[in-house]
Amino acid sequence: MQPRDLSDHVAYEAGRGIEEVARELGRDPDEFIKLASNENPHGPSPAAAVALRDAASSVSSYPKSTHTDLTDAIADRWTVDPAQVWLANGGDGALDYLSRAVLEPDDTVLVPSPGFAYYGMSARYHHGDVREYALERAADFAQTPEAVLEAYDGDRIVYLTSPHNPSGSTISLEAIEQIAEETDDETLVVVDEAYGEFADVDSAVSLIEGRDGFEARDDIAILRTFSKAYGLAGVRLGYAVVPDALADAYARVNTPFAASELACRAGLAAIDDDEHVERTVETARNSRAYMRDHIDSHVWESEGNFALVAVGDASAVAEEMQARGVIVRDCTSFGLPGCIRITCGTDEETERAVETVNAVLADLE
Ligand code: PMP
Repeated sequence: MQPRDLSDHVAYEAGRGIEEVARELGRDPDEFIKLASNENPHGPSPAAAVALRDAASSVSSYPKSTHTDLTDAIADRWTVDPAQVWLANGGDGALDYLSRAVLEPDDTVLVPSPGFAYYGMSARYHHGDVREYALERAADFAQTPEAVLEAYDGDRIVYLTSPHNPSGSTISLEAIEQIAEETDDETLVVVDEAYGEFADVDSAVSLIEGRDGFEARDDIAILRTFSKAYGLAGVRLGYAVVPDALADAYARVNTPFAASELACRAGLAAIDDDEHVERTVETARNSRAYMRDHIDSHVWESEGNFALVAVGDASAVAEEMQARGVIVRDCTSFGLPGCIRITCGTDEETERAVETVNAVLADLE
């Protein structure tokens, strides 16, 4: 038995954890900090941590009612119908559901370059093909309708990321509306707001619902996750908010029990923990401002919980920073050579990252 032809497929490159890096280098894990995967430096919402402990005795049951409760709570948060909320195993899982619901064999998806790798991977799993639009480094990765529409060629899904990973740039609701307007009726514009809580721009849910002066649209879907601002990357919980026209497709494409009992309980507790989210967002704002002010190299303005830094030989810089105990992301895998991405840490972590990157840049010069 052989798998089907997977030569077009690549494996997702998840960042390595502290334990793994320390083991490989024969060092003590306590010597390292990891600012490579845009995780929450304050950990999970404390309310969610309690809920997870309490949930232990419930995991022999399937997550039927908690699933519904969480969907209702998310729907309340956005003032949408619960049927418009597609719960999933992380934002990645929600992307897969959108691919399953929308893509026919040989359809294409249009993705940003540089950009988040899973858009293309998900399309390929679902027998689609991938095309790219360029976000120009010289233009600070500005996301403009022109950049997207020039490359657009009847693609079935167009991905926008706001804030964009790895640059931190955002896209206005007016620009998203223009893109949706000027693409075919059969094209779905997916706005990935995985880092939405950290940004000043409003959520594109307003475009689906027709609020704040916008006309309601049925060709936009939003992606959100509990992995970042809520600190629940390890439980794998995310969702899409979709227009009414897509709502019914969920039941036909989702995996039975799309989110685990533990994820549902953690999510239910976390969604009401505004204090944790506010603290996390404030830490990220301080951290990214500090990086911009103190790193001796170009740092792009970011609205996410990370900052993109121009460093020249990114692999060498990331490797040397790791040797000095600070694990960051080499952006070559995003299709962006010459840059590293540093996740916003606590004040102490951020200061250490800044000192380390400056020292490494000076030493490698
Ligand atoms: N979109 C973007 C832009 C991301 O960076 C990530 C996480 N790396 C995701 C979506 C998916 O996150 P998760 O599956 O953890 O919800």
